[in-house]
Amino acid sequence: MATDTLNDTVSAIAASDPAIWRCIQSEQKRQATTLELIASENHVSKAVMEAAGTCLTNKYAEGYPGARYYGGCEFHDQIERIAIERATQLFGCKYANVQPHSGANANAATFLALLNAGDTFASLVLSDGGHLSHGMKINFSGKYFKPIHYPLIYDLNNPKFEQIDYDAAEKLCLEHKPKMVLCGYSAYPRVIDFARFHAIADKCGAILMADIAHIAGLVATGVHPSPFPHAHIVTTTTHKTLRGTRGGLILTNDEEIAKKIDKAVFPGLQGGPLMHIIAAKAVAFGEALRPEFKEYCRQIVRNAQALAAALKEKGYRLVSGGTDNHLMLVDLRSRSADLTGADGEKWLEAAGMITNKNGVPNDTRPPKVTSGLRLGTPALTTRGLKEAQMKQVADWLDRVLTSKGDPAVAAQVRGQITELCAKFPLPH
Ligand SMILES: *Cc1c(COP(=O)(O)O)cnc(C)c1O
Repeated sequence: MATDTLNDTVSAIAASDPAIWRCIQSEQKRQATTLELIASENHVSKAVMEAAGTCLTNKYAEGYPGARYYGGCEFHDQIERIAIERATQLFGCKYANVQPHSGANANAATFLALLNAGDTFASLVLSDGGHLSHGMKINFSGKYFKPIHYPLIYDLNNPKFEQIDYDAAEKLCLEHKPKMVLCGYSAYPRVIDFARFHAIADKCGAILMADIAHIAGLVATGVHPSPFPHAHIVTTTTHKTLRGTRGGLILTNDEEIAKKIDKAVFPGLQGGPLMHIIAAKAVAFGEALRPEFKEYCRQIVRNAQALAAALKEKGYRLVSGGTDNHLMLVDLRSRSADLTGADGEKWLEAAGMITNKNGVPNDTRPPKVTSGLRLGTPALTTRGLKEAQMKQVADWLDRVLTSKGDPAVAAQVRGQITELCAKFPLPH
């Protein structure tokens, strides 16, 4: 640990709460010695980590800069203004609300701001890559609003097999006239055509919402096309490809929408903002504005392409045939009919590769089992891994899956991964 402040914090936890300290130490070691292939995770910089652990956590700052419900907010106003300024610069838009505690909260605030209970909205079939806040039955979005779902292309002979079926989405929207059309996903490996979604939303008089939680970093650096100027409202997390602390963010160019969003976030949905987290978001946005971050995002995609190619060479089928972004969905049935996502995830973890099971389109297995694995390269790229190591990762994945979780194979691979990790240390 490099700074005195951090050292003080570290020893304070160790001295006052050894049980929690041991867990944190173990987790630090786990992260340092395993390969993080979960597409929605990343490793933040030391500066971002430090900002999240500061005295800002002590303060109530309900309200917005210049209009707080508590005294003593001078520096909190400065921090939040900087965060907003950087967010709008990063995404090329006019307004930002940096207070949502998470991506799901950003979505809840958007629904609260722009829809009434019972209103219809359109989103992707959830099992094909949508997020639970896009209309899952027991989520607020499915309980208090009426989702209709557009499909992927399921026709094997179509060259765009398993990509979004824009024609079907348009037909569905013209028929049901949703008040909002939602695009942006949790497990979709292809470029999203925001212009096409804008045309669809316009035709049925709907608001277009883009949830770029996964691809925010790629969008900010021009590695994926921007939802602006097409979307009326954009929500995101700050902790996936954007590489900040866990959190949410809402963006728009529309002044009326911006006002409604501010009211919906506070006092509509949340109380006091997490100012230490907002400071950490500001630090992360500052990092993302630097040229190195653009190069980082380009490398994320190059690594995903290399990993995808290596897996395909070994006979694995990828959903939609490949990837344009930071993630891919591996259809494990293509390797062996009895191989499940649940087994794959468990066996790989034992070998030091952290992944998550994920349904593939039209999966016949239940969500706790699934037939797929979702793999992403943002965290590995942060460690400095490049194309050559992606080939090696594909070899390890294949060895473990082919061995059906043989403990001897897992132990051998685990050892090799620990060695690789030592050569590519975490940023903190
Ligand atoms: C991850 C994700 C979210 C939710 O983010 P949380 O911070 O976990 O609430 C929302 N939408 C999409 C598309 C996501 O992938």
